[in-house]
Amino acid sequence: MTYVITAACIDVKDLSCLTSCPVDCIYQGGRTVYIQPDECINCGLCETVCPVGAIHSDERLPADMLEFVAVNAEFFGPDVTGWNSPRGADAQYKTTLDHPVVVNWPRQGD
Ligand code: SF4
Ligand code: SF4
Repeated sequence: MTYVITAACIDVKDLSCLTSCPVDCIYQGGRTVYIQPDECINCGLCETVCPVGAIHSDERLPADMLEFVAVNAEFFGPDVTGWNSPRGADAQYKTTLDHPVVVNWPRQGD
């Protein structure tokens, strides 16, 4: 189990969830943020603070958001950041890169 950031965060990215996470496992990309699934302790705090309802447990994901399980996980893999499991989102682990699904997502909120 893990929590997952889905499409509603794209181009909103207000960062509220970052300060709520007790293990700092939410990391900043360019247009959205990503949860490191191996670091998430499934406390659910981030879900309660998101103003756009972008965060869900992977066990309660809306069907049209299922691809975001892979989007979050692959952000940390060799094809995007290669960070793997940094064990804490500090200034060193912040980027303008995004997962290809996010890069190609239609711009929101204009
Ligand atoms: S569920 Fe808890 S540990 Fe997981 S990303 Fe959200 S705040 Fe962090
Ligand atoms: S609180 Fe919601 S909108 Fe804000 S950065 Fe986190 S997931 Fe994105």
